[in-house]
Amino acid sequence: MNKKALLLDMNSTFMFGEDRFGDHEDFSIYYRNIGGQLERGQINTIIRDVYHYLDQRYPDELYRHSFPTLADAIDASVDQNLSDDEQQRIIDTFSFHEHGHIPKPYIDALFKLSKQYVLSVVIDIWSPKQRWLNTFEELGINHLFSATSFSSDHGMVKPSPKPFELVVEYLDIPKASCVVIGDSIRRDLGGALAAGLDCILVGGAHDERAMAHYPSLLEL
Ligand SMILES: [Mg+2]
Repeated sequence: MNKKALLLDMNSTFMFGEDRFGDHEDFSIYYRNIGGQLERGQINTIIRDVYHYLDQRYPDELYRHSFPTLADAIDASVDQNLSDDEQQRIIDTFSFHEHGHIPKPYIDALFKLSKQYVLSVVIDIWSPKQRWLNTFEELGINHLFSATSFSSDHGMVKPSPKPFELVVEYLDIPKASCVVIGDSIRRDLGGALAAGLDCILVGGAHDERAMAHYPSLLEL
């Protein structure tokens, strides 16, 4: 492949099992473990309301460059006055459920790819990035990324071209030598094209505008 830098999506590209916000999730389990005192029904309602607030806005073009922070979403969806500690526990609980895991073969693949390409990540997450940074550090992959963009840092979400452009500018590598790799036609391919970048789709999605398709990052 005639490319120098890879701009990697994270969720469902090399992290999996993320966004555990389904109807059967009991958010009180993690919340209790970190010392939360609200009743089970209460904390579950809060997390679901906050999730719903963000989920509604995520695809909305109106919020593409001003996506609410998790703290904003909590403020907007919770009636009661929360102490700072309580708000932090809600954020921790939310981020625990938003965070997935990186299977060993994908860690190996990232190391392998880093020998051939400059790696970077363009990540959409709703929670503050600390939990993900911790994971990258624990797995020893943090130093593999020459540039990172987390949407919760700046409020710009895919398919906005801006997070991709930010990373390309930071890398200081010509766009033609960069390629976006992700699983989402709308967010990754859409954002890449809007930024004037090629895109490789992984994970089964197919679109003729993509430069190539692979079942997963492991086959790249
Ligand atoms: Mg993804």
